Amino acid sequence: MSQSQAEVELLDRNDPLGPKREAFRIPEGLIYLDGNSLGVLPRAVPARLERVIQQEWGTDLIRSWNLHGWMELPLKVGAKIARLIGAQPDEVVAADSTSINVFKTLLAALRLRPERRVIVSDIDNFPTDLYIAQGVNALLNGKYELRWVHKEGLEAAIDDSVAVVMLTEVDYRSGYRYDMRRITELTHQHGALSLWDLAHSAGAFPVDLNDCGVDFAVGCGYKYLNGGPGAPAFVFVARRHQAAAFPFLSGWMGHQAPFAFLPEYVAAEDIRRLTVGTPSVLGMSALDTALEVFDQVDMAVLREKSLRLTDLFIEQMEPLCSAYGFQLMTPRAHERRGSQVAYAHPEGYAIMQALIASGVIGDFRAPNILRFGFTPLYLRYAEVLEAVRRLEDVMRNQKWQEPRFQVREKVT
Ligand SMILES: *Cc1c(COP(=O)(O)O)cnc(C)c1O
Repeated sequence: MSQSQAEVELLDRNDPLGPKREAFRIPEGLIYLDGNSLGVLPRAVPARLERVIQQEWGTDLIRSWNLHGWMELPLKVGAKIARLIGAQPDEVVAADSTSINVFKTLLAALRLRPERRVIVSDIDNFPTDLYIAQGVNALLNGKYELRWVHKEGLEAAIDDSVAVVMLTEVDYRSGYRYDMRRITELTHQHGALSLWDLAHSAGAFPVDLNDCGVDFAVGCGYKYLNGGPGAPAFVFVARRHQAAAFPFLSGWMGHQAPFAFLPEYVAAEDIRRLTVGTPSVLGMSALDTALEVFDQVDMAVLREKSLRLTDLFIEQMEPLCSAYGFQLMTPRAHERRGSQVAYAHPEGYAIMQALIASGVIGDFRAPNILRFGFTPLYLRYAEVLEAVRRLEDVMRNQKWQEPRFQVREKVT
């Protein structure tokens, strides 16, 4: 191995983000390479939830909507996320799930291009995005052509018939990162609108939505934002579209005056129109506190560490690729990579189970992908070395062949 233990320990000692690890509760001895699926628990969250439950819910009850700003949480949390994704504070709101936010934004975007009949996406996009588009199309009586293409055919698929180009910036399996600026510009040259899913971008590296001219975006609260299982998602609508983005899920929280209780729906002028019903206060509170770990974090520094971590992992994995047949699926070019690295292997499932049993958590994505997420806020360089060492042990001693590692669980 070319990078020695001493060298990575030096990297860790000089890591400007090193002290951030203290802000997280990381189980002893565990190497967690799955923050792209469920971020680890920020230490400040349990106390916040305890307070919300005991004081706000338990004692102050209904008064808490005003007293403790429950009503403002979606906007407050949205504004915190805005800083991480290159948006204005009033362009983002925390709400619902990513799937539901795809539904809302896709319908709103289609309505802004009423004469057009094509939705473009990547056939390897995360299934929920594709499924939601299919539901949207069914709702609109199947009027749309769902143009799902492979990455190499994407640019050719964008023409003047397209209403919306809907993509996930970082491919959840391969880790390939689209050129958001280039694709968004191309989309606009053809008069179409862009909808980006930031599930594997927000909190993982700096995103520049406004600088890239993005129209709509959505993303997850429980991945790199560490908001906890099932945390609220977020939705971005560029200011220039807010007044015209029709809120088809026209619930009372998106009304101009929810507490006027009027029979007729009138959408709020601002981003609030993308909200639907009562916010999930427990989830919002956890996410609100979880986001504090990003306070004072320079996202450029975070990106630099992320690239070093993934570079180190790729380099350390090279001998295993030749010895055991792992195939790197993630681009080596920095600008084409997010903060995850994926390998294909025919025995990927069993290998990942054996690796998890050894205390290194990554995950498996059908049909044959081993996926490793690198969260710069809490990972150490030394852990990257140790993770590869344990994987090498799994392979050399054929530990993955044990029958218990062959059994498929419900969640992989
Ligand atoms: C994780 C993920 C989702 C998840 O959507 P939910 O509604 O939160 O289940 C959506 N899109 C992408 C690209 C994802 O990676």
